[in-house]
Amino acid sequence: MSVNITFLGAAGTVTGSKYWVRHGDQSLLVDCGLFQGYKPLRLRNWAPVPLEPDALGAVLLTHAHLDHSGYLPLLAREGFRGKVYCSAGTRDLARILLPDSGHIQEEDALFANRHGFSKHQPALPLYTRQDALDCLPLFKTVPQRSTFAPLTGWKATFQPAGHILGASSILLEVAGRRILFSGDLGRPDDSLMNPPDAPPAADTVLIESTYGDRTHPQDQLLHELGPVLQRLAARGGVAIVPVFAVGRAQALLLAIAQLKEQGLIPHGLPVFLDSPMAVSTTHLFEHHPGEHRLSPHEVRAMTRAATMVSSTDESKALAARHGPMVILSASGMATGGRVLHHLAHHAGNHRNMVILTGYQSPGTRGATLASGARTVRIHGKDVEIQAEVVQLESTSAHADSDQLLRWLQQMPSPPDQVYVVHGDLPAADNLRTRIERELHWRAMVPEQGSTWPL
Ligand SMILES: [Zn+2]
Repeated sequence: MSVNITFLGAAGTVTGSKYWVRHGDQSLLVDCGLFQGYKPLRLRNWAPVPLEPDALGAVLLTHAHLDHSGYLPLLAREGFRGKVYCSAGTRDLARILLPDSGHIQEEDALFANRHGFSKHQPALPLYTRQDALDCLPLFKTVPQRSTFAPLTGWKATFQPAGHILGASSILLEVAGRRILFSGDLGRPDDSLMNPPDAPPAADTVLIESTYGDRTHPQDQLLHELGPVLQRLAARGGVAIVPVFAVGRAQALLLAIAQLKEQGLIPHGLPVFLDSPMAVSTTHLFEHHPGEHRLSPHEVRAMTRAATMVSSTDESKALAARHGPMVILSASGMATGGRVLHHLAHHAGNHRNMVILTGYQSPGTRGATLASGARTVRIHGKDVEIQAEVVQLESTSAHADSDQLLRWLQQMPSPPDQVYVVHGDLPAADNLRTRIERELHWRAMVPEQGSTWPL
């Protein structure tokens, strides 16, 4: 009996990670993510997945980011009753991210109905906050670097992948085949997370390729962010920083604390973190001391670097404040969340700034801003962009092309086949070419929906 894999997402694109592995009448999913970005991609979330959720044995989660976990509430609502295996860090983050995702979808549907700009009457949420809460009891944590049986006769081992709290690569062993899922790989020189563990031997590897066609500049975040915030403070402007609530928000807070400590930006520059999710995530660093590289002093400095804004009233009150100030607010690609209100309020003033902090998926407002557009559409209205738009290059939580190759090179022996996933086509194809030319391994970029024997 052969083992098959079907690529139900993250094939030729970054989001929607879902890999369905089948052997006989047993099957499991590695990751269960949402598609994000361009509308045609987001519409895929509404198409039924070609599997019977109640016949699926288990889900293994590499990490909590929604493009890896955000489809779970729907899978559970459709009848999935197996276990969702993940690390403790991933479980803690999913408890924050998934209910918030349900809440945002309900809010978006409400807003669309109230303002009548949805083509659907009434607009419905993909799933609700309650759907997300209902799937959380399925979660079962497993320690990293130890082997367990997700299904009878199958073995799985999670190992640290850097990237964000709890992020893991997964080695799956079934019917004598060893399949390695890289998950999202962090940078070896990340300011928050430890470097990824070296990969074990495997017959098949799925490697991410978010930055498969780029190398990160050596310039550290401090060197990049310092002069930008100095310039902002000098002209008394407001910087709106769309942040990824998990990972990048914390890296920025740490950098701001260090810049103030070193006197490179004014000590009194007001900084606000306006994202309840990012606030909760920042505090998780105190509860998982072994899973990141920060000292207790650095964790304290990070949690004190900004005024934490929780209630919507406090958030609205920020609009009455004058610069200079820095507002970090989710979401990181300005696809939703409180940052939209801040953008609508401040982006029209040339003294202000929009600071983009990491990968901006094509089709998102973040990508539109990065491309230099003079207007963006927010809540059904065109907002004029007069503010200076700055794209930080050094805030990625992903390994670059060279670092991905170096991770693969640490494998004890060459695999039979590499599948390059989790990248837009140019990035994925560039990494495929480099794997073939520089490592002389077989590599391909699988198509969405395609099935391959392992
Ligand atoms: Zn991720």
